[in-house]
Amino acid sequence: MSDARTNPILAGQTAVITGGASGIGKSIVQRFLEAGANCLAADLNEEALDALKQEFAEYGDKLDTVKVDVSRREDVEAMVDRAVDTYGQMDIIVNNAGIMDNLLPIAEMDDDVWERLMKVNLNSVMYGTRKAVRYFLEHEIAGVIINTASLSGLCAGRGGCAYTASKFAVVGLTKNVAFMYADTGIRCNAICPGNTQTNIGVGMRQPSERGMAKATTGYAGATRSGTPEEISAAALFLASDQAGFINGETLTIDGGWSAY
Ligand code: NAD
Repeated sequence: MSDARTNPILAGQTAVITGGASGIGKSIVQRFLEAGANCLAADLNEEALDALKQEFAEYGDKLDTVKVDVSRREDVEAMVDRAVDTYGQMDIIVNNAGIMDNLLPIAEMDDDVWERLMKVNLNSVMYGTRKAVRYFLEHEIAGVIINTASLSGLCAGRGGCAYTASKFAVVGLTKNVAFMYADTGIRCNAICPGNTQTNIGVGMRQPSERGMAKATTGYAGATRSGTPEEISAAALFLASDQAGFINGETLTIDGGWSAY
């Protein structure tokens, strides 16, 4: 029997994971640690980062944490610098942090919601990807970028207007980066989870009635929501050499929801 611990496919590599204190990001941190990587988990929630450090204390210095607001360019760039200062190199970045928009259709959405979603879900991915590409190019590293988009980055029926637009843009950015830098060995892919059991909906106290009705329309294939572990397995695969020829892809992980 072999598992990630006896087959450390990311041994000697360093990964930065945003939104790493909770849900999908936390599960990616765990999988990458198990696969032998050094991990810098970055998140806005300091308490959750402290809890993460305690929960994964067995990994000692292989896990570092940092408070960042991914909507701020300075924070995102300093986060990458910190990983490099601490571990000597960065090989993988997972731009994963994100928020939802109460499933608001455009007629119910004000400018603030749009701007906040674009800053947290899209600008963050641009800052992280740009910093990583510049760093990989400067140091001639065939690095890996994984962006957490969503099923809402591929079809319209799962989120509000701002969320959907932000995630479609993450997919577009991912494909453009993959295409532009394919000759350098840098790989840039997106994961597109369907409904997953995390805290992301917990703050969604007053979802739009119209948005909620539409989001549950056509719920055909999957009969349950996914677990963070089912999503992080895809991230580990894309981060590994086993996905060495996969570039500019969107990997949907939704139990068949979008297969109808
Ligand atoms: P989550 O709420 O459990 O985790 C998100 C993490 O991001 C939290 O720890 C939060 O503190 C952090 N975060 C939020 N804003 C931040 C900011 N400005 N700066 C730094 N950190 C910030 O939710 P999750 O479901 O694990 O979400 C992770 C990603 O997965 C998001 O991009 C989300 O859009 C995407 N996603 C989730 C689902 C789902 O159903 N849960 C489906 C598709 C895509």
